[in-house]
Amino acid sequence: MNIVNVGYDSTNYYVLADARPKLLVDVGWPGTLPKLQHHCTRKGIQLPDIPYLLVTHYHPDHAGLVNDLQRLGVTLIVLETQLAAIPTLRTYMKSEHPYHEIDVAAARHVRCADSRAFLAQADIRGEIITTPGHSDDSVSLVLDDGAAFTGDLTPPFLASADPADPVYRSWQALRAIGGRTIYPGHGPTRPLNPVSY
Ligand SMILES: [Zn+2]
Repeated sequence: MNIVNVGYDSTNYYVLADARPKLLVDVGWPGTLPKLQHHCTRKGIQLPDIPYLLVTHYHPDHAGLVNDLQRLGVTLIVLETQLAAIPTLRTYMKSEHPYHEIDVAAARHVRCADSRAFLAQADIRGEIITTPGHSDDSVSLVLDDGAAFTGDLTPPFLASADPADPVYRSWQALRAIGGRTIYPGHGPTRPLNPVSY
């Protein structure tokens, strides 16, 4: 599986692909569709060829363009733990942001427990788990090869070592299902140490 970073404006957006694109992880602020198209085209990817979009959490630099992608025919995947956060996205927007409301009814609703089976039919081997800490609705995609798309979850070296902290527990959950390489929403790819410290 190729992981192609099509990010811009200090946020990473990832396309999972082999011969064809399979999934886009996160999209940018409202009004930035031309930038996303530019970065995809440079990497040989056409947005309408991407079947699915997964949003790690519903903040504007990760979900602002969801409706624009839906209009291009990309199917949004929504986890059950994300439904409550979707209406709150509008509250982050200013009047100058050309934000278009997400079409929740048109989304593909997937339970985390069923995510492995869902991803398999999309030819992706991995799982989606809840990883709260940065926000209650945060989820991570972990591929069976160890690639973990963790959105804005506080990086391990900055996270507390308090087992009661949701961030700590989220990293432990990511390790437990085989996460080995972090593909964060911001900053470089880094290894996920198997032991917390
Ligand atoms: Zn965020």
